[in-house]
Amino acid sequence: MNNPNHGVAGESAHPRSSELYERACRVIPGGVNSPVRAFRAVGGNPLFISRGAGQFLTDADGREYLDFVGSWGPLILGHAHPAVLDAVSNAIRNGTTFGAPCAGEVELAERLVASYPGLEQVRFVSSGTEAVMSAIRLARAYTGRDLIVKFSGCYHGHADHLLVAAGSGLATFGRPSSAGVPEAFTACTRVLPLDDDAAVRDLFAREGDRIAAVIIEPVPANHGLLLQRREFLGGLRKVTAQYGALLIFDEVISGFRLARGGAAEILRIVPDLATFGKVIGGGMPVGAFGGQSRIMARLAPLGDTYQAGTLSGNPVAMASGIATLDILVKESGWERLEALGAQLERLLRPVLATARFPLQLVRTGSLFWLALHDGAAPRTAVTLSKEATTRFSALFHAMLDRGVYLPPSAYEACFLSLAHRSSDLERLAQALHEALATID
Ligand code: PMP
Repeated sequence: MNNPNHGVAGESAHPRSSELYERACRVIPGGVNSPVRAFRAVGGNPLFISRGAGQFLTDADGREYLDFVGSWGPLILGHAHPAVLDAVSNAIRNGTTFGAPCAGEVELAERLVASYPGLEQVRFVSSGTEAVMSAIRLARAYTGRDLIVKFSGCYHGHADHLLVAAGSGLATFGRPSSAGVPEAFTACTRVLPLDDDAAVRDLFAREGDRIAAVIIEPVPANHGLLLQRREFLGGLRKVTAQYGALLIFDEVISGFRLARGGAAEILRIVPDLATFGKVIGGGMPVGAFGGQSRIMARLAPLGDTYQAGTLSGNPVAMASGIATLDILVKESGWERLEALGAQLERLLRPVLATARFPLQLVRTGSLFWLALHDGAAPRTAVTLSKEATTRFSALFHAMLDRGVYLPPSAYEACFLSLAHRSSDLERLAQALHEALATID
């Protein structure tokens, strides 16, 4: 595998990034504030980014990259969209935070409620992690039950009781997947494989009357892109309703990205609660969770379930989210993103076929995954072979050398934005064609 820059890119080709990384490592653990940014999965040093504009990133050394990460999802309009910048700068002139209600919260909440199936009320928080954590507390309060069910391969943020890996043996009993999480904190979490109707049925038959909620990414996009059968998700809707448990769709990635009404609209499945983040903040720190008023009424100050946040509903963040959603609606954003995705598929399929190793494209709307996996598109959390992840590292660096910024892990999905043009997709295809020729 040819990979000329692998491991040395930071030192030689990117001196300013290297210097920043060295300084960062002294004062920030691993030099980063979120682990995937450290390039550990692909080798080499992370690039420090100094600027984003439209579909492009510029690193600290002045090199420009065609970006297919989009800050991991929020930047559905691309970087620094003028209307979002205007909205943010107008809002910020009136102050950065009040710690009291503001009109922006109402306006963004009204847009969410008008867009998402079954959503009657939402509460804003500052991250996806917080949204999920709060939704689960609410589900437990509402049902008076303790157990929650999640699926291997789905990520729901880093709350203790969700950092759980499937255990061995009776499989559903999760064990902590991170140090610092006591076993006792995960004792109420059950972990099931995706796409396994029988496992769901069996668990409910055993413990259904103790289950508060089933949480799932309806379009799992945190372990590659694991597109689910509608029947499987419909089965979750049915069994939760039958046993009086809540169904929570974690739409932190898919919400307002795949459609105005998220995956729920596409699937025609209405969850009891949904969680949002990323797109609804247009690049500012925003999360939200919501559902029917009768459930949301359990939240303080109406009810007995505590949840709060100093910066929740922040006026500047709300302005960014409102501007983003308004442009998506005004510019037929979701139709255009689907057209871009379809074009990407047409351009990439013949290129991927030239790879000398298993490589396929998995796509839905503006989300896509370059899967180094043989056979049918996986629906469960597959473990890629050592050869596959090594090849991905080579591919990642070969693309970076050609000015294309992919997510630095074989398990991460890529994101399209409205800033991408046909010519950008052609450039991606050409770069991929060249890069693949260098990898055995
Ligand atoms: N849920 C899903 C589906 C996510 O993809 C993420 C983040 N990638 C989260 C929750 C956590 O969001 P945050 O990183 O904003 O805390």
